[in-house]
Amino acid sequence: MAGKETQFSEGGRSKNITNGAGPSQGQWGRAWKVDWFSLASVIFLLLFAPFIVYYFIMSCDQFNCSLTNPAIDLFTGKVTLLDIWNKTPSLTWKAATIYTTWIILFMLPDICCKYLPYYRGGLQEGAVTPSGLVLKYEINGLQAWLITHALWFANAYVFHWFSPTIIFDNWIPLLWCTNILGYAVSLFVLIKAYLFPTNANDCKFTGNFFYDFMMGIEFNPRLGKWFDFKLFFNGRPGIVAWTLINLSYAAKQQELYGQVTNSMILVNVLQAIYVLDFFWNEAWYLKTIDICHDHFGWYLGWGDCVWLPYLYTLQGLYLVYHPVQLPTGNAVLLLLMGLVGYYIFRMTNHQKDLFRRTDGNCKIWGKKPKYIECSYMSADGTKHYTKLLTSGFWGVARHFNYTGDLIGSLVYCLTCGFDHILPYFYIIYMTILLVHRCVRDEDRCCSKYGKNWKLYTDTVPYRLFPGVF
Ligand code: NDP
Repeated sequence: MAGKETQFSEGGRSKNITNGAGPSQGQWGRAWKVDWFSLASVIFLLLFAPFIVYYFIMSCDQFNCSLTNPAIDLFTGKVTLLDIWNKTPSLTWKAATIYTTWIILFMLPDICCKYLPYYRGGLQEGAVTPSGLVLKYEINGLQAWLITHALWFANAYVFHWFSPTIIFDNWIPLLWCTNILGYAVSLFVLIKAYLFPTNANDCKFTGNFFYDFMMGIEFNPRLGKWFDFKLFFNGRPGIVAWTLINLSYAAKQQELYGQVTNSMILVNVLQAIYVLDFFWNEAWYLKTIDICHDHFGWYLGWGDCVWLPYLYTLQGLYLVYHPVQLPTGNAVLLLLMGLVGYYIFRMTNHQKDLFRRTDGNCKIWGKKPKYIECSYMSADGTKHYTKLLTSGFWGVARHFNYTGDLIGSLVYCLTCGFDHILPYFYIIYMTILLVHRCVRDEDRCCSKYGKNWKLYTDTVPYRLFPGVF
């Protein structure tokens, strides 16, 4: 347990001061000192992430989804960078109009959400922030997803206002639009953190510009009472688009080849389950790391606008260029594997949610849950009590929800066969993301819970795969 902690504000900046040794209670919100590895990763991502996205999408557009051919052709002088750039579609008014309409469509309900009926969700409370605040959130994502998809199908089958291939047909011009928004929002929240932060006591300034820009300064930037940047960008335009993008790819396959392959159907169905799950359980999402612990900067702002819609949908894009018809047995096996992955993912998340909501007064796998009692201090000096579940899936490994997610992610990739590496980017990326998350989260939990976290890791010794890691 740390010593006494005081908090003060300095020119709009908030600092946490801890007296005494031990983990810095109240600083558990985010890395306080930026080590060289974090800084190098931040600079690498800021410099290269936009090019990585461009490289993948351009490889499909100009090199039939081969990731090696662009590099080989450039190296051997068959093409120049200028040739590639000249063949890249530029920003168009059409793409700008589509994207602006899309964003406004989602902002309106969030701004006027008080006046909309709720199907599931409504007003929900988030977790305690490091400064001791509990924010309220208007949960209406399921409505947004259902209405958008109903309109999509109504257009495709009844009204024919636009072609269902519209997203695929404007994919690169739309990339420029998503980048403009991604950078604009990241810059806006950076400036906002200095000039008019929503809650100054939850801001963290590391003193390193690149780190602050990327990982964010404000914890929960808001405009007015209800427009919450983190919930909006994490959970609206990008993630709702995910399933529409896949539908657009399926429509393109139909247009090009006169049929939709079973692999495309599998990708559409499995990813739709994942997305729909997100919206069905949106209130649960308020208790995940993205909302509870990450600050809002380029990582979430640009990531949600660009990285998510472009790189999470690579399997569908690949299948437009390389339609794969799987033998029925393989397709059924992959479906079953995908459902098992989803079951593990959902049940693990559900067990923690149920356990925390009922404060342990529930049954996990038909028995009273086992747990470790913990306490922590928020920056306002209040002591809070909580519990760490050690039975059910949480007794198998400390992040078994990630294991389920990884199984599902692998299945998306396997539907594309083994001819190219491009569709496997997702499982490689998810493995890096989730392993890094394990480490990042455990670091934070260790400084939040101190010796009780050590007791927990002794009780549940593995992170993802029992006996392995
Ligand atoms: P978790 O939902 O696992 O949340 C971790 C937090 O849960 C910890 O910080 C701690 O918070 C609490 N916790 C940890 N262990 C226990 C325990 N034994 N009992 C009770 N509470 C515990 O992590 P994420 O938010 O990262 O992930 C949520 C889901 O989202 C996962 O299934 C993941 O796979 C998925 N995901 C998907 C991504 C994608 O891009 N597709 C990206 C990231 C996540 P506290 O401080 O409250 O104790």
